[in-house]
Amino acid sequence: MTLLDDAARRRLLEAAFKMPSMQSIVARKSTITNAFVNSLIPAIRPTPNEIEEALRILGMTPDNVRCAYCGDRNSEWDHLRPLVLKERPTGYISEIANLVPSCGKCNQSKRNEAWRTWIVGTSGKHTPARRGVADLHLRIERLDAYERWKSPTRIDFDSVAPPQEWKAYWEMRAQINEEMKRCHEMAEVIRQRIAADLLKTE
Ligand SMILES: [Zn+2]
Repeated sequence: MTLLDDAARRRLLEAAFKMPSMQSIVARKSTITNAFVNSLIPAIRPTPNEIEEALRILGMTPDNVRCAYCGDRNSEWDHLRPLVLKERPTGYISEIANLVPSCGKCNQSKRNEAWRTWIVGTSGKHTPARRGVADLHLRIERLDAYERWKSPTRIDFDSVAPPQEWKAYWEMRAQINEEMKRCHEMAEVIRQRIAADLLKTE
């Protein structure tokens, strides 16, 4: 091993370490909204024929299912069109016409964005374009074909339940968010006390 000068050694060691990201209570806000919408969404199980057809359009076989966005190993099937937009349900549901295999990285990066702008976007940390995914145009073509394959179900959420029920439901969500904000503020006060105390004993 060659001898490293001090600065190079420091850079190497610092790059080898990663502090876990801080868990904040308010950061769960969109998770709560997603859960409120997700809890309402019907899930329709596809037939084996539909699964076969879906994989064929995406250029995959059942024994080699990959992420439709980046080609990595698939870990879940992700909603192609988001279920939530501006904190409300879009009307799309969980059915094969609206699901594609995805890796965790893509799923987390895409969140509630439209796939077409997200996939070529460079602002998000883990977008396929940012990660330099090979054959991106081919993946986009396949996803286009996938969208043309079946028209997705779209539910008019407002018409299926009485307005007062919706109002009560969204108010519950707002209350949880308010409560989380209070928890966050309290956590911040205590965290600062602990940090100050730690400095004192050092
Ligand atoms: Zn992926």
